[in-house]
Amino acid sequence: LDDVKNKEEGFWRLSKLNVPVHKDPGKDDLSVSLGLLEAIAKVLEFPVASMLPPEGFTVVRKSIDARKLLKEPNFVYTVHMDVKKLLDLLPRIWDFISRLEPKLGLVEHFPEEQVSGDLIKIIHDCQEIKEVSQPSKKKPKVAVVGSGPSGLFASLVLAELGADVTLIERGEAVEQRGRDIGALVVRRLLQGESNFCFGEGGAGTWSDGKLVTRIGRNSDSVLAVMKTLVHFGAPPNILVNGKPHLGTDRLIPLLRNFRQHLQGLGVTIKFGTRVDDLLVENSQVIGVKVSDSRQKLHADSLKLGFDAVVLAVGHSARDTYEMLLSYNVDLAPKDFAVGLRIEHPQELINSIQYSALANEVQKGRGKVPVADYKVVKYVDEDDSGSSSREWSRSCYSFCMCPGGQVVLTSTNPSELCINGMSFSRRASKWANAALVVTVSSKDFNSHGPLAGVEFQRELERRAATMGGGNFVLPVQTVTDFLENKLTVTSVPPSSYRLGVKAAALHELFPAQLTKALQRSISKFDRELPGFISSEALLHGVETRTSSPVQISRDGNTYESTSLKGLYPIGEGAGYAGGIVSAAVDGLFAGFAVAKKLDLFEGSI
Ligand code: FAD
Repeated sequence: LDDVKNKEEGFWRLSKLNVPVHKDPGKDDLSVSLGLLEAIAKVLEFPVASMLPPEGFTVVRKSIDARKLLKEPNFVYTVHMDVKKLLDLLPRIWDFISRLEPKLGLVEHFPEEQVSGDLIKIIHDCQEIKEVSQPSKKKPKVAVVGSGPSGLFASLVLAELGADVTLIERGEAVEQRGRDIGALVVRRLLQGESNFCFGEGGAGTWSDGKLVTRIGRNSDSVLAVMKTLVHFGAPPNILVNGKPHLGTDRLIPLLRNFRQHLQGLGVTIKFGTRVDDLLVENSQVIGVKVSDSRQKLHADSLKLGFDAVVLAVGHSARDTYEMLLSYNVDLAPKDFAVGLRIEHPQELINSIQYSALANEVQKGRGKVPVADYKVVKYVDEDDSGSSSREWSRSCYSFCMCPGGQVVLTSTNPSELCINGMSFSRRASKWANAALVVTVSSKDFNSHGPLAGVEFQRELERRAATMGGGNFVLPVQTVTDFLENKLTVTSVPPSSYRLGVKAAALHELFPAQLTKALQRSISKFDRELPGFISSEALLHGVETRTSSPVQISRDGNTYESTSLKGLYPIGEGAGYAGGIVSAAVDGLFAGFAVAKKLDLFEGSI
C-alpha cells in the first residue's frame, strides 16, 4: 500500500524522450505535442497516445540530437509527470502508472516537490531569520571589485543579506560601454578600460551568452542563477532549453535591470573606477585604493575603507595580478588552453550536422536551431609518431558561436586576442569556434606565478605583428595551416570587422602546439566530414580561454590563504570558467563572506 501511495505523490521525471523533427512543433515550442505524447505513451506502455491528457505533463528540458548515426535528428525531452492531475483527468491511467518502475536517468520518482531555486526568496528567508535574532546591527562594509557575473552575484547575495556593498568597476555601464565598443569596431579606437573584456557585466556581455556549464545543469545553485537571470529579464525558456543562450541583445537590458535591483538594495556602484592597490594593516586588508580610470594621465588615488574586499576581476586584469604579487598573495600558474578561432559559413555547419534537414534552420527562425558543434580529441604520442611524453595533449573546440562573429578582446593595442559573440537569433552567416590545445608550466618560457600570463602576452604580441597592426587579424585557411604553407591570394571572407591579413599561423605557436592542433583538426574532420574546407578560415589568436593563474583561497570561507580580508572569486581567481560557473562562484562566495561578517548563519 505504501508503495502505491508513494507512486501517487510528488512527481515523476521521464527523460530521454525522443521526438523526430518532422513530428515536433519546433525548437521554440515547449508545448506537449502529439509526437511527445507518443514518446511518453511508449514509456507508460499506454496504448493510445492521443488519449493522454497533455496537461498532466510539463516540459522541463528540450534539446536537439543530430548525431550522424540517426536517420533523422530528434528533439530530446525531459518531462515532469503530475500523477494527481493525470488521475483527475484520466483515472484509468493508474493501471499504467502503478506498473511503472524507476530506471536511473530515464524514469525517476521524486517523493517531494523540488526546491524552487528562487535565490531572492531563499535570501529573504535567511534574512528574516537573522533580523529576528539581531535586530539592530551596524552594516559591515564590503567592496566587490568587478561587475562580471561573479561580482554581480556576490553583490546581490551580500546586499540582500544586509551588507553595505560598494561595487567597483574599472569599465563603463553597458550604455557607454556599447558606444565604446562601437567606436572600436567602426573607428578602431580601443578604450583600455571599456571594451569587450572590461565594463558592466564583465567579459561575457558582448558574447554569445551561452549558459551551458560543466558544473551540473540540474544543481540547485545553477538553477538559482538561471532563475535569477529570468527574474531580471532572460526568457524563461533558458530553464528548459538543453543548450540555453542569451545573445548580446538580451544581456544588455538584463544587466540594466540587475543594476537597478542592486541600487534599490542600496548598493553603491562606481563605474570608471579602477582598484589600483589594497590597504593592508597587520596582514589584513582594510580597504582599497582606487583611481578614476577615465583619466588618461595618472589620476590621484582615493583610499576607501572596507571590512572585506571581494576580488572578482576576471582573467584580463593583469595589472591586478601584479599588484597582488607585491603583497606576496599566494598565486600559482594554472593550466589553460591556447589556439585559433576557426570560422565556416553557417550553412556548411548546418549541412554537416543536419544533412537534408539543413533547410529547416532558416536563419534562426526555423524549426531546428542553428547548428553548433563540440569536438574534443586527445592527441597522444602514438598519433604523432613521436616517442616523447610531452606530446600528450587535449585539443577541443571552445566557445562555439553559431550565427555569430569574431570579435577583438584585446585590452591593449599592442596585443591581439579574439573571441566570438552573437545576437539572440544567431542569424549571421558565420559559425565560429576556438580550436585550442592545453598548455601548462612546461610550455612557458618564464617561471613564477605569472609565467602563463607572460606566455599569453608573447602570443598576443606575435599575432599583432603578424596582422601588421591596426587590429588587423592574421588569418590562414585551414588547408594551408595543415600543410604548413601560406597562400596570400584567395583568402575566404571573414565576419571580423577590422580586417584580416593572410599570415603563417603555423609559425605562431611553439612547434609541438602547432602539431597538436593540426593533428586534432584532421581528427575533427573525421567526426564532422567537411570541417576541413577551403571555406574554413583560422584567425589568430585565442589566448584567454580561462585563467592562467589561481589565487589560493580557503575552501569554506573563500578567504585568501595568504591575506585576511581578501576574497578572490570567479574566473580571474581560477575558480570558474564561463558565465554560469562564475555566477555560481559569486553566489557561494557571497554567502561565505556574509557568514564571516556574521550576516548569515547556517549553511547553503
Ligand atoms: P569577468 O566577467 O571577466 O569580470 C571581471 C570584471 O572586473 C570586468 O568587468 C573588469 O572590468 C573588472 N575589473 C578588472 N580589474 C579591475 C580593477 N582593478 N578594478 C575594478 N574593476 C576591475 N562564457 C560563457 O559561459 N558563455 C559565452 O557565450 C561566453 N562568451 C564569451 C565571449 C567573449 C567575447 C568573452 C570575452 C568571454 C566569453 N565568455 C563566455 C567567458 C565569460 O565571459 C567569463 O567566463 C565570465 O565573464 C567570467 O566572469 P567573472 O565575473 O569571473 O569575470
